[in-house]
Amino acid sequence: MFELTDRPIDSTALQARLTAPEAGALTVFEGRVRNHHLGQPVTKLEYEAFDDLARLEGEAIVSEAERIYAGAKVLCVHRTGPLQIGEAAVWIGVASAHRQTGFAACRHVIEELKLRLPVWKKEHHPGGAAEWVNCTAEAAARTGANEMFARQAALPEVGAAGQQKLAAARVLVVGVGGLGCPAALYLAGAGIGHLTLVDGSKVEHSNLHRQILFTTAEVGAPKALAAAARLRLHNPAARITSHEGEFTPQNARALVAGQDVVLDCTDNFTSRFLLHDTCLALGVPLVQAAVHRFEGTLDVFRQGAGGCLHCQWLGRTPGDLDLAGNCAGGPVFGPAVGVLGVMQAAETIKLLLGHEGDAPRQTRLVNLLDGSQLIIERSARPDCPVCSRLDQLKAAKPTTVTDTSLFLNAAGVTALGATAQTIYLTEPGEAAPGGRSAVAALDLARLRELAAAGPLVLTCRYGVRSAALARLLRGEGTTNVFTLTQA
Ligand SMILES: [Zn+2]
Repeated sequence: MFELTDRPIDSTALQARLTAPEAGALTVFEGRVRNHHLGQPVTKLEYEAFDDLARLEGEAIVSEAERIYAGAKVLCVHRTGPLQIGEAAVWIGVASAHRQTGFAACRHVIEELKLRLPVWKKEHHPGGAAEWVNCTAEAAARTGANEMFARQAALPEVGAAGQQKLAAARVLVVGVGGLGCPAALYLAGAGIGHLTLVDGSKVEHSNLHRQILFTTAEVGAPKALAAAARLRLHNPAARITSHEGEFTPQNARALVAGQDVVLDCTDNFTSRFLLHDTCLALGVPLVQAAVHRFEGTLDVFRQGAGGCLHCQWLGRTPGDLDLAGNCAGGPVFGPAVGVLGVMQAAETIKLLLGHEGDAPRQTRLVNLLDGSQLIIERSARPDCPVCSRLDQLKAAKPTTVTDTSLFLNAAGVTALGATAQTIYLTEPGEAAPGGRSAVAALDLARLRELAAAGPLVLTCRYGVRSAALARLLRGEGTTNVFTLTQA
């Protein structure tokens, strides 16, 4: 449960609300007002929240924590109004069966609040001066991004320009298991701007020897959700979107359209062919890996280069291949998926920077038992039914936007037609970037008016506020409101 209050926080009374006989642990976190900030003395604070939006987002964060950490009961209270030095500004209590779940859920809630809760803080300084600080913007800006990537940007193959390319990139990771975990961790660490994770399964104990984003505290959690939370801790400046569900023929195009690179980290041929064909049709490079016991293969597929997955398996159907055995449920050497997942991250970064070399025309075989590597040159087979009609594929319209989900890319916005309006949401004290139509994020009445007039696409500095407001308006029954995936 999430609450806002303008009264002092009474920790004892709140703890009493979390009494549960089955809970062996009560974990409490209190965030207090301190007398300094960024080297400046602070005499008191005021918190102002956009109540409806803050409650919606706060409730979403708490319910996510309860879904990831099974059995945790979470109560979170955030203050509004004037606060004195030493007063509690935020209180989080978690009742759980075990301490590990309590600590993990508590940390999840405080970190997500810092990044997502629409709260403004007015700091008062000695002498009467005061300034508004947006907590989410401050949290995002304070991530030390320049230092985090300094050693990578120092590589001549990357540089400042390359680092900017990575920050602007959108990468889709399908499957957050043995391959997807290390791949996504290295991509978030490299500064990829927007990662989307797709997985419909839940964390099991038998995953933990190789799925390094999860611990025993996350057993039972939806993988996509738990992995996204873990990656945001690693790089709070990255946008991490989770899609809890399988990659299916129904959602394939909507998920792949607009991505710069896609990683296939799935464990079955049915998904592998679907992902491959979707990427080929939309012209999005695909980095595919598969592991069997101690051995793995790595392929980079790109429209028109070095043949395709159908060339490799000519005459076989995904169904046949899956029946012949796949890696789901079989024995697997943890470091083998680790190495292959990290190689997928490396190939993805190289593609984004234009350093992919011959990789799109090669299959790489890696054997962790004897330490060997083998590179096989790939070429299109003249009898391949897919490669022989590549011209048709290339001539097809790059994207057909049939996606009615909340998130749209630039092509999706164009497809909404000329009546659609894109609005930049400003925070107090913020001016909209050059010439964009803007509305103050707090002006919900104006946004309702605009949505009534036609399709409305919201965008903002970090994409957090716009997504939350779009969800709020959708919740009111307004269906033609969207949020732009790249500001
Ligand atoms: Zn082919």
